[in-house]
Amino acid sequence: MRKFADRRRLRCIIVPMRVLKFGGTSVGDAERIRGVVAIVRGRAAADGRVAVVVSAQSGVTNQLIELAHHAAAGHADPAPLRARLEGLIADLSLEPGLIDDELDELETLLRGISLVGDLTLRSLDRMMSFGERCSARISAAAMVAAGLPARAYMAYDVGLVTDATYGSAHVQPESYERIEAALDAAFDDGLLPVVTGFVAKDGDGYITTLGRGGSDYSAAIFGAALGAAEIEIWTDVDGVMSADPRIVAGARSLDRMSFEEAAELAYYGAKVIHPATIQPAVWKDIPIRVLNTMRPEHPGTLILRASASEPGVRSIASKGGITAVHVTSHRMLLQVGFMRRMFEVFERHQIVIDMISTSEVSVTVTTDNPKNLPAADAELREFSEVRVDGDKAILCLVGEGLRDVPDVLTRVFAVLQRESVPVRMVSVGASRINVSLLVDRGDEKRAVKALHAEFFGV
Ligand code: ASP
Ligand code: MG
Repeated sequence: MRKFADRRRLRCIIVPMRVLKFGGTSVGDAERIRGVVAIVRGRAAADGRVAVVVSAQSGVTNQLIELAHHAAAGHADPAPLRARLEGLIADLSLEPGLIDDELDELETLLRGISLVGDLTLRSLDRMMSFGERCSARISAAAMVAAGLPARAYMAYDVGLVTDATYGSAHVQPESYERIEAALDAAFDDGLLPVVTGFVAKDGDGYITTLGRGGSDYSAAIFGAALGAAEIEIWTDVDGVMSADPRIVAGARSLDRMSFEEAAELAYYGAKVIHPATIQPAVWKDIPIRVLNTMRPEHPGTLILRASASEPGVRSIASKGGITAVHVTSHRMLLQVGFMRRMFEVFERHQIVIDMISTSEVSVTVTTDNPKNLPAADAELREFSEVRVDGDKAILCLVGEGLRDVPDVLTRVFAVLQRESVPVRMVSVGASRINVSLLVDRGDEKRAVKALHAEFFGV
């Protein structure tokens, strides 16, 4: 009897807490925002403690960047942006002056930038911050109008501090305790915080941003700070798919996957959170669920430290626009320092290397950003022969324990042979969970379809 009572008391003290993050399309128009309000209401009723993190309305961050550049060039017209956001406020029947302070500040800043005729990274961050700042105010007001105890918070007012790397700032460790204290106080007052994603301030009080798509990072930071039981990332797809549905009509969403699998897929533009951004969640071992705002009843994909499923192929991703660079040196390849010299050239020219394969006399690397290759090429030629091979694609099979499943490679090569797809490069071994293949761009879609049929039956 006593034991039972204790357990009940315990349940009252440890209130499960959830962070819900809504992306740009999820808050993109009045109808979607009403959907968000319904989702938040459901979660708040079930869980007690809920914190919401919002992105800017889709397209707004790009619009702000463009405005900043126009201002620096002499003239920027914020009227269309103002009209869009005020239209949204009207559609939601909210108080018209809701974001006047932000919009006025935005206009002042634009005048300042055009006066100086120069756009610094710091002022660009302040420009970009208006998207999330307005979004948080609008979303919170929509929730209040629907009877929820919501309140908008600027992330930097509730403890989020970063370094001063404008444009892609990193969280400072003291943020976690500060956020916990600030939001616990809000929870104790019975409030439902609606916090800006993407924005923060540095130690000197200047606004910073966390990198494009950075609201996921904010969600992970807030989730870690609050010891959330789960972080929900609400987007516009049914979680992580077994392949890009634009290529494979029968692609299906995965119930669960590991953080590492999600990280591998992120490179391929799969609609998953970015690996670097979910680090705070990985660190605290907080599960992340990717959900679809347009189909809230769909269970989405649960991303966990261990996917706890059978080893095998979970997802097949691909990426076109890949360039292969073959570097050959009969004289020097195996000499000490050759690799270092080669990679130094790539580093100097900011060329990110994705796949590497070596033979006795040559090294092949791939990159998805060949913009600076011509300059690097000249330097590489000082000590080797170089051949650049454009128009390639990387195919990637991802799955925990993949390397240890004996017949995966056999099946992959049998499928590609049947489809007459020449394989230009293979990389296994680098991680336990991915097999990457380089093929010609023209073969990309056919290969993905055939591989998906082989491993998923559709
Ligand atoms: N609004 C920001 C962007 O467009 C951050 C985000 O949406 O996650 O990059
Ligand atoms: Mg995003």
